[in-house]
Amino acid sequence: MGEPALKHAEQTWVYGFGGGTADGDASMKNLLGGKGANLAEMAKLGLPVPPGFTISTAVCTAYYELGRDYPSTLAPQVDAALIALEKESGKGFGDPENPLLVSVRSGARASMPGMMDTVLNLGLNEASVKGLATLAGDRFAYDSYRRFIQMYSNVVLGLRHDTFEHILDDYKERQGFELDTEMQAEDWKAVIVSYKEAVEKALGKPFPDDPKEQLWGAISAVFGSWMNDRAITYRKLNDIPAEWGTAVTVQSMVFGNLGETSATGVAFTRDPSNGEPIFYGEYLINAQGEDVVAGIRTPAPISRERADTLGSSDAPLEEAMPEVYAQLRDVANTLERHYKDMQDLEFTVENDRLYMLQTRNGKRTAAAALKIAVDMAREGLITENEAVLRLEPSQLDQLLHPTIADNAKRDVIVTGLPASPGAAVGKVVFDSEEAFALAEKGEDVILVRIETSPEDIKGMHAARAIVTARGGMTSHAAVVARGMGRPCVCGAGGLQIDTAKGVFRVMGREVNKGDVITVDGAAGQVMLGAVEMMQPDLSGDFGTLMEWADKARRLKVRANAETALDARTAVDFGAEGIGLCRTEHMFFDAERIPEVRAMILSNDEKGRRESLAKLLPMQRSDFEELFRILGEMPVTIRLLDPPLHEFLPHSDADMDEVAKASGVSVEELKRRAADLHESNPMLGHRGCRLGITYPEIYEMQARAIFEAAVNVSKETGRQPIPEVMIPLVATHKELQILKKVVDEAAQAVFAETGTTLEYMVGTMIELPRAALQAADIASSAEFFSFGTNDLTQTTLGISRDDAGRFLKIYEDKGIYEKDPFVTLDQVGVGELVKIAAERGRKTRPNIKLGICGEHGGDPASVAFCHRTGLDYVSCSPYRVPIARLAAAHAALKESLK
Ligand code: PEP
Ligand code: MG
Repeated sequence: MGEPALKHAEQTWVYGFGGGTADGDASMKNLLGGKGANLAEMAKLGLPVPPGFTISTAVCTAYYELGRDYPSTLAPQVDAALIALEKESGKGFGDPENPLLVSVRSGARASMPGMMDTVLNLGLNEASVKGLATLAGDRFAYDSYRRFIQMYSNVVLGLRHDTFEHILDDYKERQGFELDTEMQAEDWKAVIVSYKEAVEKALGKPFPDDPKEQLWGAISAVFGSWMNDRAITYRKLNDIPAEWGTAVTVQSMVFGNLGETSATGVAFTRDPSNGEPIFYGEYLINAQGEDVVAGIRTPAPISRERADTLGSSDAPLEEAMPEVYAQLRDVANTLERHYKDMQDLEFTVENDRLYMLQTRNGKRTAAAALKIAVDMAREGLITENEAVLRLEPSQLDQLLHPTIADNAKRDVIVTGLPASPGAAVGKVVFDSEEAFALAEKGEDVILVRIETSPEDIKGMHAARAIVTARGGMTSHAAVVARGMGRPCVCGAGGLQIDTAKGVFRVMGREVNKGDVITVDGAAGQVMLGAVEMMQPDLSGDFGTLMEWADKARRLKVRANAETALDARTAVDFGAEGIGLCRTEHMFFDAERIPEVRAMILSNDEKGRRESLAKLLPMQRSDFEELFRILGEMPVTIRLLDPPLHEFLPHSDADMDEVAKASGVSVEELKRRAADLHESNPMLGHRGCRLGITYPEIYEMQARAIFEAAVNVSKETGRQPIPEVMIPLVATHKELQILKKVVDEAAQAVFAETGTTLEYMVGTMIELPRAALQAADIASSAEFFSFGTNDLTQTTLGISRDDAGRFLKIYEDKGIYEKDPFVTLDQVGVGELVKIAAERGRKTRPNIKLGICGEHGGDPASVAFCHRTGLDYVSCSPYRVPIARLAAAHAALKESLK
């Protein structure tokens, strides 16, 4: 113990505040906790703060280092602080004439509401209760004393709350009382005697009468509560490290319950739900702070304006106590200007005198955060860059999709993964074709599937939302739904779906085809019935803030899109190009799929070429559409990637259709389909391996791309920028072979049309080998696009489609802190990205680097891409604004360092 004693000898543990001065200030949150630091700051600003002192978080750390004991230098500092407090308040601790009563509260660096212990009215004993009685009357004083005994015995001495409730109930019954209000001072005195007897009986020693003993008991209880189960769980959920510790603030009590000239309340300097600059809050006459929160009495609004909005008939504070209100408004304005942010205030009025008990930056909805940030920048309170930093990128989700109305009632029947945000109401449908057909007729449908496959695309697009029983955050359903901006709940494990009977069961409830459900993709909830919704408001403030973000960022933002609708949405949301067009999604159109199937199932190149010739004009027109929408922005088009069996016909009717289209017998087709079966298709015949084995497929696709580019350039006079991308490359050889196929197609088209256009050929980096071989690969690739979905799958050896089954447990155990398919595993997969970027740039210094896995829309992963020096991120259209803001945050935070 010699070491800590030395370390502690000179240390300041206790920081006083009050009387217009303080030892600390708002910048000392780490040491004084949020509450202690802000009380000090308010005292320094000359605001009416009841005096007190804060015991620092360093004491909490020392307390646990010393095995729940205090450094020897602490007690003298607490004594000195108490003397100063007595002087400042003009009262004496335990003084029977004029007692100093204090509250003892916790206060961590980050707010942890209700998680730790609080003791009020400390300092009351047999002598000082008399002093309180002179100030506030007998009844009030003895009621306060018995409340203190009850609270202290529970929080500090560990006695059960109901021990005291029973004593009180028994007493009231004996006296024939119904309500506490019938209890007079003499009754409370009798109850106090019984309370004390109960304590002595339980603990074998009397309830502490010495205020100093009471104080040390309360301090230890607050420090001890840092390690209670509730606090530990809360810290875990909110990423708060245990090392931070809590501070303890001891502050002289003020009473909001001394009668009609006293009150207590909370206020926000602006409306925390929509950001409107109105003074917002509520208060109760003749009450203590706890009463406002407890909801036993309904508080009244603070301002007339707010009362009118609510249609409240209660007198607002503005009218009930006009002078106090005017002072409170001044204080609120001072604090907001001082902190340059919306404040959440707690106050008490004791006999017409206002006291401030707390201020902190107020929590708010995304809509309020946006409005407040833009308004404050316009008011000149903060800079545009500061406004950009005020809005969390992940909060934008709330603004871009319709959402469930704030106070809507939710009858949740199952919870799964929040795979794609937004909310939707519709009728349950189990089949994609049916979803499409009903949507055509104008019905709102929700597609419920065990899992989805590329064949479901049409139905998914037609549906308002998608629910699956299986699959993780990068399962097919999740990726596609996010791409389309459809709300989606994945891996809702409790669902038992009987597609044939058209019913699903969950927790003993049955939902039939056609029943109405509501999906909340942001919360991962499925609810019965139509829950009330709110439409997104992308008004001027949104555009303004995004403009400011764009000025601040370096990283470019593109979108993953293949349909005209997605591409337009992406451009509307500010995408600067397409970073990934998955051409396979274009193959599933009802008109094309038979031809695609015929191509795959044909035995020879000749057969395949015949089918491909029919597909060429369709692909060409798709690309033309994209080039038209994107103008002179780059469009990265990836050649065919998924395992071929995904395209195979399953039903007999589908088989018949393909047989007709290809002139091959059904038996032959079935044999061929069986040949194509793979046990591990994700690691099988997919990606560039298709191009190597069937070069004619890539040749057709490349030709379609270049013909489309030439056509659109002739039609519009603008120069489309095609970037042809080869998927799942592991070796330089693969890329060399396939680049040649693409280049030859380009040269052929340019020769035929007499028009030459700039284009690029590059590769996805989605296998560890490719990352390691990046130096070689870069000699043929003009760009790398990191396919971090597959790169995560292959680096971690975890299937992206099935990860949901155990990854949650891995997260709970902290093996992976976050789902690595959502937030890039920076030290593993990220390391490969860094290696590839570095090696690629060595060979080709101007190589263009981007990312197009799902991580491209995840704020933490976007920050990583910024730091790693990538040129762009590409994400689903609805995430483009999130990525723009995240890129701005990354750049601004870097410049702050
Ligand atoms: C990837 O693997 O990250 C990628 C973007 O490709 P896909 O999701 O289509 O496999
Ligand atoms: Mg991939």
